[in-house]
Amino acid sequence: MTDCLFCKIVSGDVPAKIVRESAGTVAFRDINPQAPTHVLVIPREHHPTAGELAAVDAGLLAEVVREAHQVAVDEGIAESGYRVVFNTGAQAGQTVFHVHAHVLGGRGLNWPPG
Ligand code: IMP
Repeated sequence: MTDCLFCKIVSGDVPAKIVRESAGTVAFRDINPQAPTHVLVIPREHHPTAGELAAVDAGLLAEVVREAHQVAVDEGIAESGYRVVFNTGAQAGQTVFHVHAHVLGGRGLNWPPG
């Protein structure tokens, strides 16, 4: 999608600190980190939300989740614990409508979230 910020990160038109890539995904550091590790994992293809991606390509959604775990392993937070979040919809705080998994860790994370 020409108007999508994360599509522009996939194409290289917008710079990002990329930490991992797979055939179907790109992982990069969040520009406004909420934890010592805060990485976003996105599919290269444009899909607005996790639910919509699941409906059309569950395998690609699984690849996003696998890559999120690999980010946690690479960042050294897989053993201590980390959180994977798909904000879905405006009321849940989704601001970029290209599905992305937030991978958060490196500090204690409260529950319930705000
Ligand atoms: P959402 O609020 O769940 O949609 O998450 C969008 C995330 O994208 C936020 O955590 C932002 O800080 C992050 N973000 C916005 N623009 C950029 C960028 O250009 N590079 C990296 N992260 C970004």
